[in-house]
Amino acid sequence: MINNKFCSAVLLAGGTGSRMQMDVKKQFYKINNKPVFVHSLEKFDKIPEIDEIVVVFSESEFNEMSSIDYGISKKLTFAKGGERRQDSSYNGIIKTAANSEIVLIHDSVRPLVKIEDIKKVIADGEKYKAATLAVKAKDTVKIGDENGFFTESPNRNNVYIIQTPQVFSKKELLEAFDKINKTGESFTDETTLIESVGIRAKATLGSYDNIKITTPDDLNIVKLNI
Ligand code: C5P
Repeated sequence: MINNKFCSAVLLAGGTGSRMQMDVKKQFYKINNKPVFVHSLEKFDKIPEIDEIVVVFSESEFNEMSSIDYGISKKLTFAKGGERRQDSSYNGIIKTAANSEIVLIHDSVRPLVKIEDIKKVIADGEKYKAATLAVKAKDTVKIGDENGFFTESPNRNNVYIIQTPQVFSKKELLEAFDKINKTGESFTDETTLIESVGIRAKATLGSYDNIKITTPDDLNIVKLNI
């Protein structure tokens, strides 16, 4: 609970991991004998503000993965993923408890996320209706055109790299999903999705080491830091 509001965490593990070019999908890769997504799951199990966890697996893995006992102390539910990330997160959100008011969405392939950062973004999400862990860009970021020429140079002080968890008021997030499910628009993350219906999200400053495993190099960094 956060301010007496029931809080649900949705852990996304329903992706194809196609950029890794490995036999095992990145969320199932074992580090210290434990799949990457279980490292994330165990971390969320330790957060007192979180009341339940929903893990999303792709259709093909659902039966096998949802029948395993993960030894989690909180209420644990499973959902079937969809084609796009936003389909998987929607399927996870609709599996959360009816009395849930705050939903947190996390990429299970970010197992290095810090417990204190998770608590900070939950507090901001409850306060502002939408918040995401983010870090300020260390490099100068430029926007380019399709011919590879730069067109814009945003002020670096205002440029953020977005991570997860992203935390929302469930009511507002579901209203945003209702709208975009009708238009068919695609979004890379739920913060951008909720912004599309006019809700402003707070940047909760997190840590640079909360990396998303995308390539084999990332996996090596995670192995050294977990
Ligand atoms: O592919 P990407 O690295 O952006 O995926 C981020 C997270 O979203 C991963 O944990 C992945 O398993 C999950 N995902 C999902 N369903 C999809 C696509 C991605 O659960 N259709």
